[in-house]
Amino acid sequence: MNSASLHKISYGLYVVTSGQDGKFNGQIANAMFQVTSNPATLAISINKENYTHELIKLSRKFVVSILSKATPMTFIGLFGFKSGRDVNKLQNVKTKTGITNVPIILENTVSYIEAEVEKEMDCGTHTIFVGKIVDCDLISDAEPMTYSYYQKVKGGKSPKTAPTYSKEEPAAVKNAAFRYTCSVCGYVYDEALGDPDNGIAPGTKFDDLPDSWTCPVCGADKAKFEKEN
Ligand code: FE
Repeated sequence: MNSASLHKISYGLYVVTSGQDGKFNGQIANAMFQVTSNPATLAISINKENYTHELIKLSRKFVVSILSKATPMTFIGLFGFKSGRDVNKLQNVKTKTGITNVPIILENTVSYIEAEVEKEMDCGTHTIFVGKIVDCDLISDAEPMTYSYYQKVKGGKSPKTAPTYSKEEPAAVKNAAFRYTCSVCGYVYDEALGDPDNGIAPGTKFDDLPDSWTCPVCGADKAKFEKEN
């Protein structure tokens, strides 16, 4: 079996939020698709270990916010590599509520879809939730992020709980001279690409990064990075 074949599947990058009674959380998801148009329904695949999974089970509703191509890695890191059991991810993020009362992310969002769970399928490590779409709207006319753009251009990885997680994810830019991997989240600092979201120009050597620089995804400091051979 050649798992590289699976890396050819196209995905987007979304924040799925859920919860009720003042307990809310959001997480990054890449597996989401519209199932039917009449009535309009939507499916998402969520890892059972995630706090958001627990909240969807409880509240039976969720919101998908579709992220724009320009979404900074720090924002993706907040929702993708931190657990809502440890931090209140929504605390400093601009949101609004709609029909479901679940927070709708307004930052870096192209559009959003509110849904109420109608069916779910136990898939081992994940549950597929199928929701009836109860409302949706556009937030901006920016281009949506694709998972491939996130991986290739932004150097992004999947956390272990993603449906697409693989130990052998395609390298961002294989031919670049020096790359350093965050041992906490797997983010790759590529000297050729720099970290433009945080003012680090392409071509900046890892050793020349300021000591105050931290992993743009999980916030780990420079000492947590390992040089790739
Ligand atoms: Fe990291």
